[in-house]
Amino acid sequence: MCLNDQFFHAVSASCGDIRILRAEPMSRHTSFRTGGPAQIACPRTEESLRALLELCSRSGVRVRILGAGTNVLAPDAGMEELVICLKDGLTGLRALSGSRIEAYAGESLARTAIFAREQGLTGLEFAHGIPGSVGGGVFMNAGAYGSELSGVLESVTYLDLDGARHTVLGEQAQLGYRDSIFQHMPCVVVKAVFALQAGDKEQIDQTMRVLMARRKASQPLELPSAGSTFKRPTGHYAGALIEQAGLKGTAVGGAQVSEKHAGFLVNAGGASTADVLALIRLVQQKVFEQSGVRLEPEVRIW
Ligand SMILES: Cc1cc2nc3c(=O)[nH]c(=O)nc-3n(C[C@H](O)[C@H](O)[C@H](O)COP(=O)(O)OP(=O)(O)OC[C@H]3O[C@@H](n4cnc5c(N)ncnc54)[C@H](O)[C@@H]3O)c2cc1C
Repeated sequence: MCLNDQFFHAVSASCGDIRILRAEPMSRHTSFRTGGPAQIACPRTEESLRALLELCSRSGVRVRILGAGTNVLAPDAGMEELVICLKDGLTGLRALSGSRIEAYAGESLARTAIFAREQGLTGLEFAHGIPGSVGGGVFMNAGAYGSELSGVLESVTYLDLDGARHTVLGEQAQLGYRDSIFQHMPCVVVKAVFALQAGDKEQIDQTMRVLMARRKASQPLELPSAGSTFKRPTGHYAGALIEQAGLKGTAVGGAQVSEKHAGFLVNAGGASTADVLALIRLVQQKVFEQSGVRLEPEVRIW
């Protein structure tokens, strides 16, 4: 079945609490502010998500999972798959015994870190300034300033694309550098439990402020981007290699290598996904010619 009126009637009739957005520009849902039209479904409960996945599986509808859209490049021509967006829908934060917290996939990492701080729990300060969701953060093993979610992840609950529920321990989730098992199997992260430690609220707050100030000083946060466009190559920094190749400020259409931080490709105004992809290829080619290092995109290209 294709993504027609009949399918969306079935969603409304049988999947419970789901917001539907038809022909919605992905540029409104990605931090790069690029991407063409998509059919987007935003379930507000795990039960609705499960029912939606079952319906899609039965109907032969392919899906893509979207969190906060801060690490995704969506095609200009639009999405063929149904986009299931969890950000701000599938939410919930809960303190558990033993300095642990449970966070649903659609929570922002920022709210989760603040919730931990309010509980007097340390360990998520590094995640406060990362603009993604918990689901996207676990999928990517988001990290900053020497820490990653792998360091605090106790368990993850996910649904496979038939809607069956599974829970795995942190180590089973195989989080590595910007990698996790969820990148290698079709599934939807529903929630995570983070194991933290008792700490001092003032100290936690202070650490968050210091890290945010470092971020603001070094990153072009005033322009749309997906953060660091490339993974850190072993033994190098992508930003330094790009700068050494003389590429700071280089542009293709509206996409530009940031003047402030060469590791960030930014949408300097009116960029398309095609512009960003062309700039990614140009940077890869020039850096390889200059240094022999092959840069691998960190941003997920849909
Ligand atoms: C200004 C800026 C600064 C950034 N700084 C950092 C940083 O310091 N450290 C860092 O690690 N990253 C950083 N990022 C990148 C990004 O925020 C992270 O990768 C984040 O973890 C992505 O989360 P998201 O919810 O936005 O995921 P999305 O961009 O929505 O999705 C990313 C991938 O995860 C998948 N996904 C999302 N949610 C789920 C789910 N629930 N289940 C299964 N798959 C899912 C998507 O299908 C997609 O493949 C930055 C981005 C920006 C724009």
